[in-house]
Amino acid sequence: MNETRTDPESLALMDTGNLMASNFIVDFIKDDLGSGRYTYVHTRFPPEPNGWLHIGHCKALMVDFSMAQQFEGKCNLRFDDTNPEKEDISYVEAIKRDVLWLGFDWEGREYYASDYYEYLYELAVKIIKKGKAYVDDLSEEAISEYRGTAVEDKTHITNTPPGRNSPYRDRPVEENLDLFARMRQGEFPDGGKTLRAKIDMASPNLLLRDPVMYRIRRDTHYRTGNAWCIYPMYDFQHPLSDAKEGITHSLCSLEYEIHRPLYEWFIREAEVFPSRQIEFARLNLSYTVLSKRYLLKLVQEKYVSGWDDPRMPTIAGLRRRGYTPEALRNFISQIGIAKNDSMVDIAFLEYCLREDLNKRSPRVMAVLRPLKLIIENWEPGREEELEAVNNPEDPTAGNRQIRFSRELWIEREDFAEVPPPKYYRLYPGNQVRLRYAYVVTCTGFDKDPGTGEITAVRCTYHPETRGGNAPNNRKVKSTIHWVSCAHAVALEVRLYDYLFGVERPMEVPVGASFIDMLNPQSLDVIPAAYGEPCLGKAAPGDRYQFERLGYFVRDTDTLEDQDQEGGKKPVFNRTVGLRDTWNKIKEKTRI
Ligand code: ATP
Ligand code: MG
Repeated sequence: MNETRTDPESLALMDTGNLMASNFIVDFIKDDLGSGRYTYVHTRFPPEPNGWLHIGHCKALMVDFSMAQQFEGKCNLRFDDTNPEKEDISYVEAIKRDVLWLGFDWEGREYYASDYYEYLYELAVKIIKKGKAYVDDLSEEAISEYRGTAVEDKTHITNTPPGRNSPYRDRPVEENLDLFARMRQGEFPDGGKTLRAKIDMASPNLLLRDPVMYRIRRDTHYRTGNAWCIYPMYDFQHPLSDAKEGITHSLCSLEYEIHRPLYEWFIREAEVFPSRQIEFARLNLSYTVLSKRYLLKLVQEKYVSGWDDPRMPTIAGLRRRGYTPEALRNFISQIGIAKNDSMVDIAFLEYCLREDLNKRSPRVMAVLRPLKLIIENWEPGREEELEAVNNPEDPTAGNRQIRFSRELWIEREDFAEVPPPKYYRLYPGNQVRLRYAYVVTCTGFDKDPGTGEITAVRCTYHPETRGGNAPNNRKVKSTIHWVSCAHAVALEVRLYDYLFGVERPMEVPVGASFIDMLNPQSLDVIPAAYGEPCLGKAAPGDRYQFERLGYFVRDTDTLEDQDQEGGKKPVFNRTVGLRDTWNKIKEKTRI
């Protein structure tokens, strides 16, 4: 895969912000350097290539890379690829692309746990020789039955009755070595035998009840092919892969906390470099799910158009939706790193996004639900150029010329035949300003006698009000946006709502699935919108603010349209609306 960074945004230097500078992990690392436990800092980001990265991984990446950066250390990218059934090279490629896009660079330190199979095998042999591992003939089901069932609450495993020893637990070392070698040779069927660590069948932590180290699986691995028919389990593989790379601080999410004694056991028994595992809280976000297993189901069962569907919390989905790497990194910096799991309000993510887009997005006008406005005192064929500000937040962005003519598209909802109370936009007799152009007075409208639908609105313009000049006798209470019918380009616009209809889609009632929590209205396609001509030349990924409507990004999709230049109709995604709900939440809860 070509690893050059083609997206200019990824060239931005990783700026993890000062908020990452102090947290409990920093304190641990300082202690370790102070006590001489380590003389350097080396971290790793270890995705399993069984899905695309999501925003939770952005947090993990930021923790791994920023801790290394802060202590002038290094951070590896390691693919934890020891489960052949679910892994694929396409995932490796997608992960690398997303990591780079987010602005993180592993500087050539790209590793694969599958490259360590021989090393891991030798360490397993070493542990067998010490009498600390044995080959078991029990089936995987029998193993879990012998292990027993945990009686647990969320944090502590308590009152769990002891498990039962396997009848094969006390096999002599020689026999174990012979059987393990024959497992590798392919003498036994899939699932016929396992290699287990001999730890403690009475431990209150079930993970320590003789965990499986190797299982037999005749699956083709995307990198090692059929070279192996035994595959190492995560808990055995991960600490020893860390050790092989000289990783000092193995930073991972909180669900691995109960795995830590096992992590330490394997390091100790294999007598390898003593990497240290430190856990931090996972990122949980409202109205979405952050688990690859669940995201995979949405993709496979076609509830979304793919891993990069703009409604997905994946990095690729967020990118296609119009998120910037800066907004994502800033969001992670702001929420910080803590030890306790919590749920972050998605409105806060959107707030961070708007902060960034407001600064960088050129403003343009587009009309989503068009209604024709006819200026009766403007001669047919006459055109004028008006000046519009590109970005009031950025004086360097300059101005542009926009075309004005007799027939314009305005939003259908900016006209009312009978105005409701406090309606200040167009209705017969009322006047409004057309943004950057003139004040117009509504003189009437056309109605289809059959359907009752308004087909056009009529008005007259006031020449002396050109641009910003509104004399006192023309005070208007509202300004509406428009595009010139003769010049506008047709667009398809896609509006999005949250993918799930409930805040916590994982907490479903008994008998229901998280699928039942999907929001049926999460996608609204507007097939016939119009925008300023420059939108016809936008490249995928170009971002704009459509005045009064929100932030939009040019999608990767282009549709056929014979009426349009080049026969193409661009698609735009709404990234986020203009209205900020976060400040309201902040006020309410005094955050
Ligand atoms: P999933 O449960 O979504 O499959 P995972 O943890 O199995 O996620 P990995 O590819 O194994 O996915 O994760 C790579 C790294 O990212 C791990 O160190 C993991 O702890 C971290 N990580 C995964 N999800 C989150 C999250 N929501 N918040 C923070 N870190 C996460
Ligand atoms: Mg995992």
